[in-house]
Amino acid sequence: MGKLRIGIVGAGPGGLTLARILYVNGIEAVVFEREASTSDRPQGGSLDMHAKSGQYAIACAGLTTDFRRIARYEDQESRIYDKDGRQVFLEEDLTGKDRPEVDRGQLRQMLLDSLPDGVVRWGSELVAAMPCVDGGFELELRGGVRERFDLIVGADGTWSRIRPLVSDARPVYSGVTFVEMGIDDVDVGFPELARLAGRGLTFAVGERKAIIAHRDSGGHLGIYASLRVPEGWTGSGDLRAYLLAQFEGWDEGLRRLIAESGERMVPRPIYALPVGHRWENQAGVTLLGDAAHVMSPFGGDGANLAMWDGADLALGLVSGSDWRGAVRDYEERMFGRAEACAAGAAEAIEEVFSEDGLEHIVAAMRGHGG
Ligand SMILES: Cc1cc2nc3c(=O)[nH]c(=O)nc-3n(C[C@H](O)[C@H](O)[C@H](O)COP(=O)(O)OP(=O)(O)OC[C@H]3O[C@@H](n4cnc5c(N)ncnc54)[C@H](O)[C@@H]3O)c2cc1C
Repeated sequence: MGKLRIGIVGAGPGGLTLARILYVNGIEAVVFEREASTSDRPQGGSLDMHAKSGQYAIACAGLTTDFRRIARYEDQESRIYDKDGRQVFLEEDLTGKDRPEVDRGQLRQMLLDSLPDGVVRWGSELVAAMPCVDGGFELELRGGVRERFDLIVGADGTWSRIRPLVSDARPVYSGVTFVEMGIDDVDVGFPELARLAGRGLTFAVGERKAIIAHRDSGGHLGIYASLRVPEGWTGSGDLRAYLLAQFEGWDEGLRRLIAESGERMVPRPIYALPVGHRWENQAGVTLLGDAAHVMSPFGGDGANLAMWDGADLALGLVSGSDWRGAVRDYEERMFGRAEACAAGAAEAIEEVFSEDGLEHIVAAMRGHGG
């Protein structure tokens, strides 16, 4: 068992959780990451960590104490506005709430700090994966380096290069793109916008569009202007002016979230694999997280599921000698839980970006308890 060679492609929350739990159980896997370093690109805003998935995985990794240092239990409020700026839903009683927010970058750093140097190989982009005649797979990295592993794990996100080894499925564009932007030091610079957004997650929904704001650490307000645009749209030209025109007639306070955002505006088209995506088990290769089941972010399950997958697979691999059986069992459990979340996420994005999106999101938040 100690000799099993595991190669993980992708140092996102899923791949790093897998590597960490293997490491604490005596297996040093290798993680190949195409980014040059941890500071290569901003990691995006906050995620809420759910008790049964993200937080469970963190506990399996022995990192609950470290997590509590970066978790923001105070940022769990929810608000919904209509396009005229009327507040139609408010949940600010945090009693019994257990979905603390954490910045993606801090979560990733916590996982990276928990691994010995050298486990993550930065600047290592996978370009090909080939089956070996004697079992296992050879990974080829940009620059020509090749390495053989008994088990390779595709934790390489939406456009996984490992996925084609097990499945022909490709992610499909949802029709909705989120343009990510943000305001630094919002409490100091724009206290009225800080109040509008509150401490947590805020939606303004109408006309098949949405402005979403979420509180990050360090006084940063993350903002997404979200709308239906054709596939391939990149928002060329003056993106801010384009977005303000799209939200013409909306409440001025809501529009200011776009007007006052910093220069960095990144379109994030929302893609999803077919609900219920699965494959026939194949020895020596598997997937986790978005590579296996990328879905719309409504439900906030993606990173939580990726970490749960990482924990589930790691615990299976360290539990006995039949590692091939452990992978098969992991896949069956993962397919089931991902299908349920993906179905909800697919329905939610269709509903929120429909003519009666506001009613749908209010009903969903009421059902959810905020
Ligand atoms: C707008 C938006 C908002 C979201 N909000 C939430 C939320 O609130 N809560 C939540 O739980 N989820 C949310 N998600 C989903 C969440 O971001 C993903 O589900 C999660 O990051 C998946 O983790 P992962 O480890 O599977 O993959 P990723 O985080 O995508 O990590 C994959 C890693 O693989 C690397 N990689 C890719 N290709 C290669 C290659 N060829 N070679 C080497 N390395 C490679 C990438 O650089 C990356 O570091 C959101 C997603 C979007 C788009």
